[in-house]
Amino acid sequence: MNDDRERRGAGGDARDSLRNLAAVDEVLREPVVAALLDAYPRELVVDAVRAVLDRLRREILDGGRLPEAGEVTAAGLAPWVEALVRRATTPSLRRVLNATGIVVHTNLGRAVLPDEAVAAVAAAASGCSDLEYSLARGERASRQDHVHDVLRTLTGAEDALVVNNNAAAVLLALAATSRGGEVLVARGQLVEIGDSFRIPDILRESGAELVEVGTTNRTYLRDYENAWGERSRAVLRVHTSNYRIVGFTSEPSLAELAQLAHAGGAVLIDDLGSGALADLELFADEPSVRESLAAGADVVTFSGDKMLGGPQAGIAVGRAATVAAMRRHPLARALRIDKLDVAALDVVLRLYLDPRRALERIPTLAALSEPLDGVRQRAARLAGELAGLGDEVAVEVVPSLARAGAGALPVTELPSAAVAVTAKGLDAEELARRLRGGEPAVVGRVQDGRLRLDARTLRDGDLAEVAVAVRRALEA
Ligand SMILES: *Cc1c(COP(=O)(O)O)cnc(C)c1O
Repeated sequence: MNDDRERRGAGGDARDSLRNLAAVDEVLREPVVAALLDAYPRELVVDAVRAVLDRLRREILDGGRLPEAGEVTAAGLAPWVEALVRRATTPSLRRVLNATGIVVHTNLGRAVLPDEAVAAVAAAASGCSDLEYSLARGERASRQDHVHDVLRTLTGAEDALVVNNNAAAVLLALAATSRGGEVLVARGQLVEIGDSFRIPDILRESGAELVEVGTTNRTYLRDYENAWGERSRAVLRVHTSNYRIVGFTSEPSLAELAQLAHAGGAVLIDDLGSGALADLELFADEPSVRESLAAGADVVTFSGDKMLGGPQAGIAVGRAATVAAMRRHPLARALRIDKLDVAALDVVLRLYLDPRRALERIPTLAALSEPLDGVRQRAARLAGELAGLGDEVAVEVVPSLARAGAGALPVTELPSAAVAVTAKGLDAEELARRLRGGEPAVVGRVQDGRLRLDARTLRDGDLAEVAVAVRRALEA
């Protein structure tokens, strides 16, 4: 009985709240909202008012929360409307200073472009270019022309084709060579990479049929031979970028796979994922594009924005017949590379013609190859800047482990140095949250109750901004 009355009472309150909820017109007359109407299209503001009212109405009806009397008035609702309109009209993508220690961070936009590539992107974006036009002949040409020759020079391949990303390159290679046929893949290579790039799914979408070969950890050449059939069109080898099967393992060499595929009139597709073009000590365990081609792969695919340090792109290099089949395939048009990425890739690939220059100029390579001493010095400089903020913060330079990221070199950790930050009266998670909310945002990582800012992924030009960001976070 008592319960009943309470429930009815609550229902009554909810009904009151709903009845008192300001009307759209009332909210629009609030000075703050009226000012928005001067600055933005009426429809945008009205939609925001409706969205705020709807959300409150739903909250009341769901019984989750009863608003205070002031909250349902036009004046109480106006700030929400303003916030919603500001959010809708402010570009969403924000600049982030990467203090995570993960050099190519997939969620933070992967590779950072060299300055000269950024300039090329800006030029291509702000004006017209000869993207698909031969200035010499005054007629149509292909966007591939800008990167085709330099890719051949760098990899020694007969032919090259660039598409939107590596997932697209693999899809296109499979569709062009194996639609309606079978593709042999080792069980240990049926991986999911990054954000839901699953080899079995890509294979199905290409119109080919997957034939699993061997066991998870061991696959022999005879397993491939036993799985071979009349409909076999390709062997796909996938570099298991983001994990390693260690211990009791075995797989045939690429040369053996190539021989088997060619003897059966099929092709060998090698998806390298990252594809090291530079001859770096760090890449010693990464398969190189040249080696794959030399071993007999018909097409080798890799990403533009992983260890290459360029823009998002999928690069396919290999034998003329296979690459030509990909170029002719109808999917090629749907998967084509964007013009801004062509502009950046054009510049980045040419930097590789002089490996020393590539190391210096390409931020990804510079960050991966920087000696620990340099990283330590940067950490010390950052610690100095932060110490200058006063005794509200305590800082210490600590040893750290950075990573290459982007699914490459998964088991390789790079020695690094970080600044461990503690702020008075602020726990590390809260400090991290405030730094993520800043402009630019700073993303570090919390470890042992302290926020760590890894200096390997920060650049010299970032340090002053990080210090300003920390000061703001303390003041917030
Ligand atoms: C990352 C990766 C891909 C996907 O490349 P994207 O450029 O992200 O599309 C495909 N295969 C392997 C082995 C990879 O590591």
